[in-house]
This record gives sequence, structure tokens and C-alpha cells, in this order.
Amino acid sequence: MKEGYKGYKSYEYLDKNKDYKSFELSDELNRVEPYFIPLNEEQEKKVKRIIANHPVISLHDHPSITPKDVKELMDYEREGRECTAFEGLAHSAWDAVFDNMMDGTCVISSKAGWKWTDVIHDIGIRSCDIAHQDFLIKGSSVEDIYKAKAEGKVAWFISLESATMIENELDRIEILYGLGARMMGITYSESNSLGSGLKEKYDGGLTSFGAEAVERMNKIGMAIDVSHCGDVTAMDTIRTSKKPVFITHVGARSLWNMKRLKPDDVIKACAERGGVIGIEAAPHTTITKKHCRHDIESFMEHFEYIAELAGIDHVAFGPDCLYGDHVGLHNLFSSNMSIGENTKGDAFPYVDYVKGLENTTEASHNIIRWLVKHNYSEEDIRKVLGGNIIRTLKEVWI
Ligand SMILES: [Zn+2]
Repeated sequence: MKEGYKGYKSYEYLDKNKDYKSFELSDELNRVEPYFIPLNEEQEKKVKRIIANHPVISLHDHPSITPKDVKELMDYEREGRECTAFEGLAHSAWDAVFDNMMDGTCVISSKAGWKWTDVIHDIGIRSCDIAHQDFLIKGSSVEDIYKAKAEGKVAWFISLESATMIENELDRIEILYGLGARMMGITYSESNSLGSGLKEKYDGGLTSFGAEAVERMNKIGMAIDVSHCGDVTAMDTIRTSKKPVFITHVGARSLWNMKRLKPDDVIKACAERGGVIGIEAAPHTTITKKHCRHDIESFMEHFEYIAELAGIDHVAFGPDCLYGDHVGLHNLFSSNMSIGENTKGDAFPYVDYVKGLENTTEASHNIIRWLVKHNYSEEDIRKVLGGNIIRTLKEVWI
């Protein structure tokens, strides 16, 4: 366990059920039987050395805990008070995590989500919780990643999957940056004033307002994510941005024909302009023809394909996990998250959870273990765990 963690639990500075409605939460580490890829003694030593020596970064995650009973999830989200998985992160290998907050489940005052006041509520309340503990460092720069690693802590970066809540107000990008956000998506799966989402029948590319938003994000140093954009909008953003762009949580459509995954030309364009592609692990996304049952093997098949296509200098990991019943959450928020459209394509077996990637703790360890087991060099592992992300962040953040 990371030495910086002293046992803090979310909102323990308040009185439960007096100051806020509390819910019985999922077990952070043992909700399902944990699975760690078995290794020999020499490989275990290599894993330890890598974790000790190199920054390990999740480019996209949701390290919060959901209620044990998934039926309570909608009420929990309406309260607008997600609990952070401090213990889970303390047992992970991550030195830094891009936390995408409530995103599609941000339904505090609205059924459809993505309202400005709700997003501000989410950022404020989570930041208040983070301010009352000292294990997560609220991150604003690359230096915070090195600081967290040196102190046995985790750098926590606020990230937003879509810019829908800025509506037609460019200044809101600065307000979000001022509140701590360091990365933002252009669209979610639905279109907004910036561009077209991946679920749409027609993709009009980046709007003129979207191009202005990209320019403003470049100027203030807000990293850009196009994971949920339509293909034309993603390509337009990559070409319009003066800084490299991230595709933080995705897989290759060439391996499985699904709208949520990206075609080769978008992946290549992102890499050619210095961007980084993070591999996605949320249930029923990164499956392949060879491994259509979602698990660590199908996920790593996407990694190997994209590393070959884009180059080892342009790939990383954005597992997009949470601590709780992720499949149950998808079922409940199916329309908010466009799950039906995201996964449209050939039939595949449904799983209750993704073996080896059940939560971001398990994902962090199994990614490293898989790479070591498959004889990747320490230098290549250093790049894909964090080196590539740091290089690009140094170009983007100013
Ligand atoms: Zn997403």
C-alpha cells in the first residue's frame, strides 16, 4: 500500500445522515474475486522495479465508489456527492489519475445531465473532500506527478469528458481551469455547440464555436480529449488544435466494428501531431474478434494494435474504471451514456465484470504485469505507463 495513505474516508469531516444522506458503498477491493496475472520471481522483481522507478499515470478514470445496491445508484448520483476510492487508489500502482468525475451520470438537477451548475457542484464538492485529506494531491502541473510519486501519494487531476456545459460561453473554459480542470472533451456521444458526438447519423465536424473553443483551450493550456467525438469532429479537432490532442479512452475500430472505437486514420493523425491514445477498459468496449469476451487479453490486443499503428511513443492507458457495479451503472444510465449506440455492431457475450480490469487498482497492476509477462523492455513500459503522457502534457499545459 502507498505510504502516503493514512485511512481517510470521503466526507468524514461531516456527520453521516445528519449533514448528508449516506449510502452503503461497494467493497473497494473485493467486490468480485480479485485477479492478478501470475508471474515468476524474476518477473515480480521487474514489476517492483518499474513501479518504484517510473511514473504510472491513468489518462482516464472514475476512481469513485458506487453504492453496493445498484438500485440506489440513481439516488446517490442525484445527491451530487460521489465518494472517492482512497483505499483503492492507495493499493493501486497509479502515481497520477485523471478523474472524469460524474460525467454522464451528473444528474443532480436534471435528468439528461451536463448542466453547468451541476458540473460546478460536482467539482466543488469533490475538491472540498480532497482538501480535507492529504493522500491525493489536487494536481495542476507535471511537477505534481513527480511530487506524488516521491511522497507515496497520488496526483488527482480533474478532467471532463465533454464541453457540453460551457454552452456558448468561451470564458467558462477559463472558469473550469481556474477551478482545477486540466483536460476537457469536445463532445460526449451526443452533439453540442462545439461539434458532433459519435452517436450521430451525420457528423458536421467542429463548429465555428468549436474552433474558437479549441483556440481558447490551446491558449490557456487546457488539454483536449476527442474520445467521444464523431470521426469527422475528432479529425477536425486534431487538425485545428495548435497543440497535440489526446484520445484518452478508446480502442481500435479495426479490431471490432463499434462506433465507440476509433478508425485507423484518426488514431494515426492524433499520433502524427504528437498526441497520445489511451486504451479503454470499460465493460464491452475493447473487445476483438479473437477475444470477444471482454477481459485483460482483448484490452491488451487493442494496446498492441494501436502501439503498432501509432508507434510506442503515442500509446498509454485510460482504463475508465470505477469501484462498483460498472455493468449495472451502464444499464441504469443507458440513455444518458448512449450505451446502445456506443456498442452497436456485431453480437458479443455480455460479462458481469471485466476480468483483470474490475476496478482501476486491478487494472493498474495487471497492465504492468501483462507487459512484463510479454517481455516488453523497461524503456517501452516506462513510455506507455506515463512517459508519453508527460511528454505531451509538457507541450499542452502552459
Ligand atoms: Zn467516456
